[in-house]
Amino acid sequence: MFKWFGKVNFSPYTRVADFARHLKEGRLMGSRCRKCGARSFPPRADCSECLSADFELVEVGRKAKLLTYTRIVAAPTGFEALSPYIVAVADLEEGGRILAWLGETVKEKDIRFGMELHVVPRIFTELEEIKVYYTLEKES
Ligand SMILES: [Zn+2]
Repeated sequence: MFKWFGKVNFSPYTRVADFARHLKEGRLMGSRCRKCGARSFPPRADCSECLSADFELVEVGRKAKLLTYTRIVAAPTGFEALSPYIVAVADLEEGGRILAWLGETVKEKDIRFGMELHVVPRIFTELEEIKVYYTLEKES
């Protein structure tokens, strides 16, 4: 069974590596299946609808609505110095869901479920390997 699972669903990171390159250039990308047209964010190398591995990266809008959030006080190893911080889940206007840090433009007292936000890609440029994360910021 695991062999089958691996053959069908194993998605090497290198197949979606261009995602990081686009982010570095300021574009937020999702994937679109060339066979059935299903879209996904974050991008998937294998279609969740028809399992086709034929996909293309397509730019997605940055508008999002807050679905839920949590305040991290006991941070995992490596993030202790940053706590407390808020991690949120937001629904992208064009479909898909994003897990991201809540940015500095959103004060905790102003958080409202369903509030309009926008996604800001961030890059840890000081690291040799490209590490990407996002923040959700107040609509301007
Ligand atoms: Zn498909």
